[in-house]
Amino acid sequence: LGIAPAITTSGELRFGTCLLNPPAGYVLADLELGKRFVSDLLAGESVRIEGDAPWLARAQLPESGQARLAIHVGSAERLPVADELLIYSRNVLAQVCAEVSPQSILESLYQAGLARQSLACIVAPETLMASAALRETALELAVPLRFVGSDAALLPVAWCEPGNGVVLGVAAAPLEPETIGRARGRLAVIGLGPGAAELMVPAVKAELARANDVLGYETYVRMAGPFRDDQVMHCTDNREEMQRARHAFELAAQGRSVVVVSSGDPGVFAMAAAVLEALHESVDPQWHSVDLEILPGVSASLATAAQAGAPLGHDFCVMSLSDNLKPWSIIEKRLDLACEADLALAFYNPISRSRPWQLGVALDIVRRHRTPQTPVVLGRDIGRPGQILRTLTLGELTPEQVDMRTMVLVGSSTTCTFARADGMQWVYTPRWYGEKP
Ligand code: SAH
Repeated sequence: LGIAPAITTSGELRFGTCLLNPPAGYVLADLELGKRFVSDLLAGESVRIEGDAPWLARAQLPESGQARLAIHVGSAERLPVADELLIYSRNVLAQVCAEVSPQSILESLYQAGLARQSLACIVAPETLMASAALRETALELAVPLRFVGSDAALLPVAWCEPGNGVVLGVAAAPLEPETIGRARGRLAVIGLGPGAAELMVPAVKAELARANDVLGYETYVRMAGPFRDDQVMHCTDNREEMQRARHAFELAAQGRSVVVVSSGDPGVFAMAAAVLEALHESVDPQWHSVDLEILPGVSASLATAAQAGAPLGHDFCVMSLSDNLKPWSIIEKRLDLACEADLALAFYNPISRSRPWQLGVALDIVRRHRTPQTPVVLGRDIGRPGQILRTLTLGELTPEQVDMRTMVLVGSSTTCTFARADGMQWVYTPRWYGEKP
C-alpha cells in the first residue's frame, strides 16, 4: 500500500522498548540468546540493569536489584550467559598512524579485553586519506573510517595502547563517528544516459542515492532527481563548467559525497574532462585525495544509432560542431579528413542560436565527399518525452531540420537502408568494407 509498517513485538508492547533492537550506538551481542531472555521477562521475571543504558531507564521494565536476569551494557568482551542480555556499547575508536590490517585491530581489541562489536570507527591521519589498504580494513570491520589533522584532539576518551600500531580510545558513551574528523570525500562524475530511466546504468542510480550534493546544469540535475530533503542540489548555468568542477572538489574535500551530472556519457563533450582538468591544475593535496570516479552513461549518438538500427556499425567519427572551445578551422579540417577517410559521422552540438551558420558550412564539406543518397539519421530528445527519430538523405538534409537537442548521424559510403514492417526504415553500416567477405 506504500505505507511504512510499524512492527512491534510483545516485549515492545509490554515494556515500551524492543530490547532486541537497541538504539543507535548499541548492539545486541546475540539475538538468539536475546529472544529467550525476553520470553523469560514476559513470563513475569524481574531484571537488573548493569552499565549505562539511558534508554532502558525510560522503559517500563520490572526492575529489581535481586533479579536473576540482568541486562548488561558495556564494551568489555564478555561470554554471553543464559540469564544475561548482553548489549555492547559502540564507544571504542581505533586510532592508527599507518596502514593496518583488520587482524591487527581485532588483536588489539582482544588484548585490551574489548569486544569487536564495540568498535565504532577507525581514525587515521589525513595524510592516509587515499590509502586503499585502510579502506579495505574499515570495510572488512564494517566501521566508518574518519580522518583527522595532526592537531586534532579526540577527547574525552580514555586511551590504551596494546601495540600493533593501534591505539584504542574508550569513550564514556557511544561515539558518533560523523562528528569525528571527516570522511574521505567522494566525487563521482556520472552520465544519466539520454534521459529514459531504464537507460541509466545501475551504478549511476546507486551513486545518486548516496550523494550529499548534486551539481550540474539545471535541466540535468532535475532529470537525475527526485532527491531527498537532505540532498543539496547546486544548479548552475551550462557554461560555468570549470567553476562547477572546482566547486565539486571543494565540497568533496570536506568529506562529502558529491555527484556531478552530465547527460549521456560524462566523457563525451561533458563534465568528466572539466573535472580532471580542474584536478590537474590543483596543487591542493585534499583535492587529490578525494575518491574520484567517472561512471559512464549511454551517449546520445549510441542511443540514437540503436533506435535507427546500426548506422555506426563500422568505423565512425564523433565530433562536436561547437566552436565555443575550439577554432572553427580545426572543425573544418577534421570534418574534411573524416569524410575523406569514409567514416560514418556523429555530430553533437550541431547548431544553436549563437552558432546559426556552422552546420550549413559543415554539410557543404560533407557533400564534397558523399553522394546525396547517403543516409542521415536525426534523433531529437531521444529517450525523453516527445522524442523524434527521422531517417532521410544527405540531399534532403537542411540546417532548419536540426536544433541543439538533435543528434545528427551521417552514413559512410557503405551505409544502407531498407524498409521495416512499421513503415519506418532500418539504417545500418555493414561491419565489412571493400569486398563483401
Ligand atoms: N554528454 C552528452 C553530450 C553532451 S553535448 C552525451 O554523451 O550524450 C550535447 C549534445 O548532445 C546536444 O547538442 C545534442 O546534439 C546531443 N544530445 C544530448 N542528449 C540528446 C538526446 N537525448 N537526444 C538527441 N541528442 C542529444
